[in-house]
Amino acid sequence: AAAPLGHNVIPIVNKLQDIVAHLGNSSTIELPQVAVVGSQSSGKSSVLEALVGRDFLPRGSDICTRRPLVLQLVQIKRKADGTDEEYGEFLHIQGKRFFDFNEIRREIQRETDREAGGNKGVSDKQIRLKIFSPNVLDITLVDLPGITKVPVGDQPSDIEARIRTMIMSYIKLPSCLILAVTPANSDLANSDALQIAGNADPDGYRTIGVITKLDIMDRGTDARNILLGKQIPLRLGYVGVVNRSQEDIMLNRSIKDALIAEEKFFRSRPAYNEVADICGVPQLAKKLNQILVQHIKTVLPGLKSRISAQLVAVAKEHASYGEITESKAGMGALLLNILSKYSEAFCSMIEGKNEEMSTA
Ligand code: GDP
Ligand code: MG
Repeated sequence: AAAPLGHNVIPIVNKLQDIVAHLGNSSTIELPQVAVVGSQSSGKSSVLEALVGRDFLPRGSDICTRRPLVLQLVQIKRKADGTDEEYGEFLHIQGKRFFDFNEIRREIQRETDREAGGNKGVSDKQIRLKIFSPNVLDITLVDLPGITKVPVGDQPSDIEARIRTMIMSYIKLPSCLILAVTPANSDLANSDALQIAGNADPDGYRTIGVITKLDIMDRGTDARNILLGKQIPLRLGYVGVVNRSQEDIMLNRSIKDALIAEEKFFRSRPAYNEVADICGVPQLAKKLNQILVQHIKTVLPGLKSRISAQLVAVAKEHASYGEITESKAGMGALLLNILSKYSEAFCSMIEGKNEEMSTA
């Protein structure tokens, strides 16, 4: 299993993200998260699912991901009796716990249709989902629609430009880590993922290359040189993975079995012997973990000052309501409370009282 992320750092960031979501569009707090980019069917949703270790995302050879899905993983305590409970909750259906992950997938599909229609339309309105599990890293992942060139169904003629704008709105944020997903059976020089990631992050400080479909490369070829960065160098490097094929999905092959098959794949191919440490989903999780903790360390001071500024603004607004105890003033006070709490938590982290930060 992959190394868990810092126990104290990320939950606080996740909570902040919730607060920011409630603050609405006026808020400018940019929080660290991980987004997947690439062309359609490159395996973005498959990579996210494998990282989470559960089946719950719509995947397939057609356009499946049609709205941004903001996926917050929340690590919960293992139960004493060993019966692990894992469930999901959507922001648009508050209070309902989904224990059936197939039902989560169906709800994502329904909610996609509600906003983007049933005929391949795309919308930039987020779906927000939290997964609670003892088996996940505390991290926020964003699944994005893939880049396509030719409009199909109800898509407008400028679909490519629209999707690119949508993707950029996430990955241009300096606090966003980018998983640039490229299938091994297409030429890396044609990679939409590397191209758009390069636009957003020209120096490559926050882009990890992910090479999928190593199992279906042209016979006689392998991705060793790509993975070693000999074709297109990336500062943070590449990780090669093998996800489930469409047939595996249709046969209901589990993620667990897929991970075992992946490990066997890399072990049995001499070409990947020397690059074992950059192959496989567990290695990707490990790499992400290291980079994320490092990244959060560098953005924390900026976050802190922005939250403080917002705190002052809310306090002012609150004061302007005077003694009137109407609902808006009540909400202001509540928000103020929440913000103070997390601002304090941040301060103590920055001052180094948090063990997780120093041992990272
Ligand atoms: P997305 O559009 O980028 O989100 O791609 P999906 O995750 O939906 O995957 C598209 C199709 O490619 C699905 O049928 C997957 O089963 C298949 N696929 C993804 N990764 C791999 C891989 O590593 N090997 C194989 N054989 N198929 C894969
Ligand atoms: Mg997808």
